Amino acid sequence: MAAGLKDKVAGEISSLGFKPRLDVVLVGENPASKVYVKMKNIACEKVGIESVKHSLPDTTTQEELLSLVSKLNADPAVDGVLVQLPLPKQIAESAVIKAIDPAKDVDGFHPVNMGLLLSGQPGLTPSTPTGVIAMLDSINFNYNGAKAVVVGRSNIVGKPLAIMLLQRNCTVTVCHSKTKNLPEETRQADLLIAAAGKPKLITADMVKEDAVVIDVGINRTDSGLCGDVDFDAVKEKASAISPVPGGVGPMTVASLMRNTLEAAKERRK
Ligand code: NDP
Repeated sequence: MAAGLKDKVAGEISSLGFKPRLDVVLVGENPASKVYVKMKNIACEKVGIESVKHSLPDTTTQEELLSLVSKLNADPAVDGVLVQLPLPKQIAESAVIKAIDPAKDVDGFHPVNMGLLLSGQPGLTPSTPTGVIAMLDSINFNYNGAKAVVVGRSNIVGKPLAIMLLQRNCTVTVCHSKTKNLPEETRQADLLIAAAGKPKLITADMVKEDAVVIDVGINRTDSGLCGDVDFDAVKEKASAISPVPGGVGPMTVASLMRNTLEAAKERRK
């Protein structure tokens, strides 16, 4: 699916007459962030987006980062600006997210884009939830009245996904670390989304028969990468389930490519 989505984006870009440009800012040496930035770079090359990487040291101050963001905002050649999270502790993420021009905010994290999403208006939407919706659309998931349970309430995954599902007429429950009885909530889900960042948090006894299960979690354990769902056991109960790795991750990158294309078209029209 991710390959198909990227092919579509590549096809559209080849008929644009210009190459969209995405600038990715990486601060510090976080190994996972380095991998993500590299994957984004490879995807850009594949679809025909010019990708420019800005690597800054761990000691970068907030002022220095904001100054780079402001330079990229003002540069007419730049279509998308992405600052890879997390940032070193001396930098407030919210200040950086707010500083990005909403028209170039291909991650969709700026409060303006969040507000547009919340109020049901068009804008750049966060890549991971957008990728999840594309996966559900691909299996013709019947959102209408379905009971959706989202485990996780972060600004980048849980909250925007809950809003997107609500807009598609699901009845949505959002769970978090203070939820009193998580299994009781998840067992009611026709659609269960795990985005907590806790390895194998969701076990088979927490899943309703024939539920659709999407695993957003990426956890690095001693035995390699795993999701938030105990895949082997839950796949026996679910009617559809996404794996980790190879599920939401590639869809996130593909959705980012789509966002960059949309931002470029909108800004240059
Ligand atoms: P955060 O750490 O920002 O949020 C995690 C959320 O899960 C919080 O709302 C937290 O609750 C909740 N939570 C934690 N433990 C439990 C628990 N035991 N029971 C119920 N809820 C719990 O993570 P992100 O949203 O950024 O990411 C979530 C996961 O998705 C991570 O594994 C991350 O690596 C992965 N991810 C994957 C992407 C992809 O492309 N596939 C993209 C982005 C993230 P509370 O708010 O109360 O603290």
